[in-house]
Amino acid sequence: MEKLGLNEIREKYLSFFQSKGHLRLESFPLVPQHDPSLLLIPAGMAPLKPYFMGELTPPAPRVTTCQKCIRTNDIENVGHTARHLTFFEMLGNFSFGDYFKPEATKWAWEFVTEVLKMPKDRLYVSIFEEDDEAGRIWTRDVGVDPGHVFKMGREDNFWEIGTGTGPCGPCSEIYFDRGEQYSCGPDCHPGCDCDRFVEFWNLVFTQFNNDGNGNYTELAHKNIDTGMGLERIACIMQQVDSLFEIDTMAAITNGVSELCGIKVGASQKTDVSLRIITDHIRSTVMLICDGVIPSNEGRGYVLRRLIRRAARHGRLLGIQGEFLTDLSDKVFALSGKAYPQILEKRDYIKQVIRMEEQRFAKTIDSGIARLSELMNTLESEGKTVLSGEDAFRLYDTYGFPVDLTIEILEERGLTLDRAVFDEQMEAQRTRARTAREKQGGLGWATSGEDFGMDIKCEFVGYEQDSCEAKLEAISCEGEMVGEILAPAKAVLILDKTPFYAESGGQVADTGLICGRDAKFTVENVQKLPDGKILHSGVLTEGTLSVSDTVTAQIDTARRAALRRAHSSVHLLQAALREVLGSHVEQAGSLVEPDRARFDFSHFAAMKPEELARVEAIVNEKILEGIPGRTDEMPIDEAKKLGAMALFGEKYGDIVRVVRFGDYSAELCGGTHLDNTAKVGLFKITAESSVAAGVRRIEALTGPAVLALLSEKQDLIRSVAQTLKTTEHDLALRAGAVMDENRALSREIASMQDAKNADTARGFLASAQEIGGVKLVTKIVENAGSDILRGIGDSLRDFDASVAAVLACVNDGKVAFVACAGKDAVAKGAHAGNLLKTAAKICGGGGGGRPDSASAGGRDASKLGEAMAAMPDALKAMLK
Ligand code: ATP
Ligand code: MG
Repeated sequence: MEKLGLNEIREKYLSFFQSKGHLRLESFPLVPQHDPSLLLIPAGMAPLKPYFMGELTPPAPRVTTCQKCIRTNDIENVGHTARHLTFFEMLGNFSFGDYFKPEATKWAWEFVTEVLKMPKDRLYVSIFEEDDEAGRIWTRDVGVDPGHVFKMGREDNFWEIGTGTGPCGPCSEIYFDRGEQYSCGPDCHPGCDCDRFVEFWNLVFTQFNNDGNGNYTELAHKNIDTGMGLERIACIMQQVDSLFEIDTMAAITNGVSELCGIKVGASQKTDVSLRIITDHIRSTVMLICDGVIPSNEGRGYVLRRLIRRAARHGRLLGIQGEFLTDLSDKVFALSGKAYPQILEKRDYIKQVIRMEEQRFAKTIDSGIARLSELMNTLESEGKTVLSGEDAFRLYDTYGFPVDLTIEILEERGLTLDRAVFDEQMEAQRTRARTAREKQGGLGWATSGEDFGMDIKCEFVGYEQDSCEAKLEAISCEGEMVGEILAPAKAVLILDKTPFYAESGGQVADTGLICGRDAKFTVENVQKLPDGKILHSGVLTEGTLSVSDTVTAQIDTARRAALRRAHSSVHLLQAALREVLGSHVEQAGSLVEPDRARFDFSHFAAMKPEELARVEAIVNEKILEGIPGRTDEMPIDEAKKLGAMALFGEKYGDIVRVVRFGDYSAELCGGTHLDNTAKVGLFKITAESSVAAGVRRIEALTGPAVLALLSEKQDLIRSVAQTLKTTEHDLALRAGAVMDENRALSREIASMQDAKNADTARGFLASAQEIGGVKLVTKIVENAGSDILRGIGDSLRDFDASVAAVLACVNDGKVAFVACAGKDAVAKGAHAGNLLKTAAKICGGGGGGRPDSASAGGRDASKLGEAMAAMPDALKAMLK
């Protein structure tokens, strides 16, 4: 066998399957793109699931990939077995309803024996014990020695999705025999857990569908999904003892070994630490590259745990200070060619590692010391279980992920009271949640005083759309931090800001806060009672640190739309008082870009002409182009001006008054236009009631009115098109269509009448004469009760001595209509009573007057019997 490098093997595999008609796809990111049920990608098939499930059409019927994988549940194995890593690459070839078992096995064998040139006598395959087809193909068609084919049970060789429903099937694994020196004994065989037979390739034949109750049916489109661990095959090809000795791994391990001065092989314990660091730094680089950042939950927690675990094993090896950032350079050097993205994001990735290692470094030594103390105490007291409270304190104060605490405990044969720990975690989450809710939802950790922060925050947004400012504080995930890097959600406080915080019904500004290389998108702004203005949003690029000089820039177009809406609300209030009276007071308002809602006190719904007048007045004031001005003044002076204030609102001694000429004056902190003309247009779109005595007006301004106009115009145009007329003639045409419709309905009705009369005439001809009454009993096809009634009416019109029972069946239900003419009634016939009998037979009920009745029945199969009973029923009632 040739000693092939990892990168060479990857290339050989992908080009081999390309030569067999497969489309070569790039590795998908480690973070699942469309699968919220999955934390991280654990296998080559995972990102292709939508193609296998038939939810998406694959780009080709055959594809081949080298997929980056993370298996967190192998984390405990890493360093202890020769074959497990948390990050590894999986080679795979896939068929979506295209080729199946014969091709998959033949090509696998061809690749292994002809491309990799593995000796056949060292290869073994396993098959599912019930899959005779696979056994035949391997031995007869591919030519594997039957002595090298092993049958295995469902547990090992049948693949099913965790839930047990959906596509599934048998699999077949290929093993390499590393030689007797690795054997655990004479009973060793492929599938044994020791290091002699390594499984390196798994071929899954997805041929069944499990309905969830263990019923397996053959799939119409059978799939192939294979997975071969790239590091494992490299380990075999390079004839080394473990994954940590292959070319791309050994260089990292050696790097760590140099750092700590401990040679590989010095002791079992130090080897484990060397391997853990080697493995974790690779996974760390790959995870950060794909967008994961350290946190206390989900993927972020996986990453945090990997970094902190590696940092701790560095301590165990005696490495002082931070080392992971520098060590990551080895990963860039070894994997950068296959994964250029990591090189592109190199600085960013290193910065994330540095920050996380620094955070942990601050407390790790005192944390480890504290934990050792705790463990000593436990042991001296003869106890073996660490309390949940202690573990929580280690987490809270020293940043020890609980899994790390458990691991350290296990190294000394101790355990943790996990239930109490989880309770404490939950209690902390609840505390954080309520604290957040109290802070108006922006997640500001606690109020500033608790941090001893006395920040003055000046609002300059009345005059300026942008300003330079100093970044005073950053809160991220409920914690005050000195620095954040993209991507991160955070809340910022500046010493100065043009951003208007949501208040007085006007929604907050949005915009950007930019640093040297940083871009922070402001999504919401709120003001704390102590005056601090909180900018919450997302850092999408670069880094921000406290004390940075930044530029704060609001979205000016959006702000202009807010000004239009807010100023128009002031004009609206004045116009309402003019038209409806001085009892109109503001009861609430919402000001959004070019859209406003104004609630006010008024006892009745507004009449259309009142609404029209109010709208016209506001637009007049707009066209007059009245200058707007804002002044701060003592409250008494404002009252003298007649400025309107909010009922029940507390104002300070100095207030802000917004005026438009003599027409409107209000106490208001919002942002306004300097001239009413800039509103452009004002249009009321709705008037409604909110509560007793409170009305609501909704309105649009500026471009939003234009948008509304063109929307209406489009509607008119399309209605005109449908009615095949011009806009000009639309009303006329609509009237004509309605008239035409009415005429047609009448015509249909009279045609139906004529038809009913015909039918009635026919029925009468075959009537049965009973005691001078002509009895008609008929089941009418394709009819409803209304038609039966029409036929009945005609029958009575034609002959006063008729008694009729008519029925029809719809959706298995019977409907009856009966009638009796004047003479028949006089002779004793009773339509209602006839139906009582008939409906009863059909399992229903009903009845009515002597001359007219209707009823229903559930059992249509008894209809014949019911009709046959009518002559006797009639006879019995005749005088
Ligand atoms: P094992 O029993 O050895 O853990 P597995 O049954 O979990 O393996 P599969 O789920 O069949 O493995 O994955 C397909 C291939 O991926 C394996 O044949 C192996 O080559 C590789 N592989 C699986 N887990 C790891 C790992 N933790 N590190 C490196 N390679 C792995
Ligand atoms: Mg496994």
